[in-house]
Amino acid sequence: MSDIIPPPNSPSDQLLDAGLYIVATPIGNLGDITLRAVDVLRRCDAVACEDTRVTGKLLKYLGLSKRLIRYNDHADSRQRGQIVDLARGSAVALVSDAGTPLINDPGYRLVKDMRVEGIPVTTAPGVSAVIAGLTLAGLPNDRFLFAGFVPSKDKARREALSELAQIDATLVFYETGPRLGKTLAVIEALLPDREVAVARELTKLHEEVQRGLPSGLMAWFDAHPPKGEIVLLIAPPGEAEISDDQIDELLRDALVTNKTSQAAAEVARATGRDRKALYARAMELRSQ
Ligand code: SAM
Repeated sequence: MSDIIPPPNSPSDQLLDAGLYIVATPIGNLGDITLRAVDVLRRCDAVACEDTRVTGKLLKYLGLSKRLIRYNDHADSRQRGQIVDLARGSAVALVSDAGTPLINDPGYRLVKDMRVEGIPVTTAPGVSAVIAGLTLAGLPNDRFLFAGFVPSKDKARREALSELAQIDATLVFYETGPRLGKTLAVIEALLPDREVAVARELTKLHEEVQRGLPSGLMAWFDAHPPKGEIVLLIAPPGEAEISDDQIDELLRDALVTNKTSQAAAEVARATGRDRKALYARAMELRSQ
């Protein structure tokens, strides 16, 4: 694992040391592959990947031909064991379809098993949509929390967003075009004053960042249905005080799908207001 990439014009043909090499690949623009990623892919013995067609295309673009092994974290432990055994004596690269392996992509269980077995693991880092989105959004980035995909079911989505809402950091999620509208509607109900950014199709031809309050973004994306891949970011809690009318609206929304105590707890999490006072208000609203 002591290989240092040779200067670009003097490629080394030496074999790589045995072990697992985590290799980041582009999220759109093929020019974003790193020199080191190309070098590892050129010199490794085999490539473990999510989809052999996707990785086959990338290798073809690079003028490489390698043994490809399909891998996902749900593979049975016997199949994972075969890759672990292979990495004992040869260099195995791990790639995902796009971006950095393990970041909402397969690899965690494989890396864990390699560590348990004492097999060297190293990384050729590169692009990840979470970092690309964060650097473009224009939201505070001294502290951020990456929470993966926004849950797709209504209740889970609402609970996840209200649980994370009070964290003093920019929140970063992966999201899909068809679900963006529903997610913005929940943000608008829970956090109407928070600035939100939608970073779409990063590094691709139609790269776009839309920023604004949730209500404005809802209107924009109603008129311009979002296509392609999306990183969604929510600014940290600011100084803006939430009004009593807004609290009532949040409680009414929460009461539609929750018991009174759960509704109060959810709104308390989202707003930082006192839970007992919210419970009392929720009881009043229920009886109206
Ligand atoms: N491992 C990848 C990484 O490091 O970015 C993420 C894989 S995850 C399965 C795929 C999600 O990442 C997409 O649904 C989208 O939310 C986000 N994503 C990937 N590429 C993107 C791009 N070019 N622009 C915006 N979001 C992207």
